Amino acid sequence: MSDAPPGLILILEPSLAPPKRNRIRKRLEELGCEVRYIDGGAHPYLEVSGEVLPVRTISVESWPGVVRMVPLSRAYPQVAWGSGRGDFVAPSVVHLPGVGDADPPVSIGAGSFTVLAGPCAVEDAERTVRLATIAKESGATVFRAGAFKPRTSPYAFQGLEGDGLSILREVRAEVGIPIVTEVLDPRHLEMVADVADVLQVGSRNMHNYALLKELGACRHPILLKRGFASSYDEFLLAAEYILSRGNDRVVLCERGVRTTSGTVLDLGAVPELRRRSHLPIVVDPSHGSGSAHRVLPLARAAAAVGADGLLIEIHDDPIAALSDGQQAIAPSALAGLIDDCRAIRNMIESSTTELNPIPSDSSARKD
Ligand code: PEP
Ligand code: MN
Repeated sequence: MSDAPPGLILILEPSLAPPKRNRIRKRLEELGCEVRYIDGGAHPYLEVSGEVLPVRTISVESWPGVVRMVPLSRAYPQVAWGSGRGDFVAPSVVHLPGVGDADPPVSIGAGSFTVLAGPCAVEDAERTVRLATIAKESGATVFRAGAFKPRTSPYAFQGLEGDGLSILREVRAEVGIPIVTEVLDPRHLEMVADVADVLQVGSRNMHNYALLKELGACRHPILLKRGFASSYDEFLLAAEYILSRGNDRVVLCERGVRTTSGTVLDLGAVPELRRRSHLPIVVDPSHGSGSAHRVLPLARAAAAVGADGLLIEIHDDPIAALSDGQQAIAPSALAGLIDDCRAIRNMIESSTTELNPIPSDSSARKD
């Protein structure tokens, strides 16, 4: 038996006969685990180490003689703090390549507050260059626009696709700003990665495991948006698909979840994901609210709960926008939004208020 700590324990029925217990042990060993029986009297159990992750995904609790499975580690070891690869004891930072000589390379996470802004979709070259220029002048350091758009209706504008990518290439060179754009389909990965600095996985595709596996094999940073009906575990397991295949440059994006009152931005996700994972977290108040008047207040709130950045949609003629015009803020409003959020973020960073402070002198307790 190796010295590895157990990854889970299986609590057994107290009166389980040894042959039945041995069947369980044998099955676990066939699955690549090491097993140790602990005779806990009325509470016997098996300590299981080795390849425990696959065991967690099968219905062990329905095996005869098993009372309960107690996992002792996260289901997403690469994404979780510390565990798995050991070196992630500090928050991870995703570095983007520099674009142009003048600008320092952009990074997301660990102290920086990065704003990714742009129109929902690439609509035409002139407007895209104009909006990218304003985004950059306003303090956004990544330009975001979709060439392939995931639309609910097949009759809605689907994006300019290859032509949109050509426009984004032009914008990158002309304006000198890194580009994030969505990849919808593994078959488009090569052409999108050829232009994009960061590949976006949209909310609808968070469960597209074929796509996630391909992204795990590439070297591009990935902006992974939370599925609009996903739990935190499902979100982090989607990220684990990418990290477990070798690409650790993932940024999580909270973009709201579907409720009976429409989409609601889940700002509580930020501290919760932070507690569970070393990955940077950005917030998208545009898709998370679906309405322009809610974007500034929610962006400020996202900075206050500790987001590492924001994804903001802008448009200079929302009525004419081909997608998501209702949630686009005026380009002229972007600089003020970014200033507010950076000020809030700085205030939080410099605050000395502790979360759940522990009294330094516990003898002073009067109980
Ligand atoms: C988008 O970012 O334009 C988009 C479609 O977002 P989501 O995938 O979060 O709906
Ligand atoms: Mn959009």
